[in-house]
Amino acid sequence: MKILVTGGTGYIGSHTVVELQTQGHDVVILDNLSNSDMKVLDRLEAITGVRAVFYNADIRDKKTLDDIFEKEDIDAVIHFAGLKAVGESVQKPLMYYENNIGGTINLLNSMSEHGCKNIIFSSSATVYGTPAFVPITEECPKGTCTNPYGWTKSMIEQILTDTCFADKEWNVVLLRYFNPIGAHESGTIGENPNGIPNNLMPYVTQVAVGRLKELGIFGDDYDTPDGTGVRDYIHVVDLADGHVKALKKLEPGSGLSIYNLGTGQGYSVLDIVRNFEEATGVKIPYVIKERRAGDIAECYADSSKAFRELGWKAKKGIKEMCADSWRWQKNNPNGYAD
Ligand code: NAD
Ligand code: UDP
Repeated sequence: MKILVTGGTGYIGSHTVVELQTQGHDVVILDNLSNSDMKVLDRLEAITGVRAVFYNADIRDKKTLDDIFEKEDIDAVIHFAGLKAVGESVQKPLMYYENNIGGTINLLNSMSEHGCKNIIFSSSATVYGTPAFVPITEECPKGTCTNPYGWTKSMIEQILTDTCFADKEWNVVLLRYFNPIGAHESGTIGENPNGIPNNLMPYVTQVAVGRLKELGIFGDDYDTPDGTGVRDYIHVVDLADGHVKALKKLEPGSGLSIYNLGTGQGYSVLDIVRNFEEATGVKIPYVIKERRAGDIAECYADSSKAFRELGWKAKKGIKEMCADSWRWQKNNPNGYAD
């Protein structure tokens, strides 16, 4: 298939391009480089041996989207493009709603006008809010999000659901990611956050490489085995493979499909510190801090639906996730800026 990957030079997008190309698909990347680097294209080519077609374009620019759909015969879109910094979304909600929701509506209009009605969307476990139960199945009701970023995911899910209901030609897959970490085994592509990382693993790797002094652990008094927050960390290469497997749910008549992509295994913050130290031999100093606003105690997936219907299952364990995150950071201490 010929796949348009929006946000394809970003963290998850770039890993998905590798899986798509190595599994025989043609890839067209669209990204405005607001949170990624052109160098990713060279690194991808070095891994797969194929240079992806690239458009430096914004999903809010309808004219350019129309030109791309006219020029390229796109079968399906995998839509990663979006802003994702939770704290920034609280400060700048309109920027988030405009970019993520406005951009997605633009994309859907352009797709529809050009007869391409197949899309896989990057959603998040954040749509479950404080989950009604764990492990979380897709039947778990959606909840109240704690920030505008989360609401953009929840609202785009609704927009796609309504679009699919109104026009039976649309096939939509909503993939709800748990906590993606890790990097391609080459150590040449990986997560490259702007400024001080918000997420746990990039913070840990930046402590390990000496860019940050110590990890702050946000709360050790949760109702979890060791008191620190529990999450379902998933290797980004497994996550990327989930997208390729999900393409089969874009066959005519498939309609709307929803899948959780996680491992089903919860790890606490202290588990991550311990596993990282064991996998890499690097010590992570830490201090216990106050709970972070909006955090929940535990969140992990029941991903059995993805296995039953897509034949997808996460294969890589926590040690591999830690070792691969570290290889990327160690080889690229300043991300793509080197
Ligand atoms: P990322 O920031 O690395 O990648 C997103 C890419 O989209 C970037 O390359 C950025 O330049 C591009 N982009 C942003 N706005 C754009 C626009 N208007 N037009 C064109 N390109 C634009 O983020 P990521 O971690 O790879 O996440 C990819 C997707 O997955 C996002 O939608 C994110 O919300 C979602 N997601 C991520 C996580 C996570 O923990 N990383 C979890 C759940 C969901
Ligand atoms: N966390 C932490 N210190 C950090 C970043 C995160 O203790 O510097 C904790 C956070 O409270 C949560 C877990 O690590 O329990 C995962 O946080 P992350 O931001 O990576 O993911 P999310 O909160 O979106 O699940």
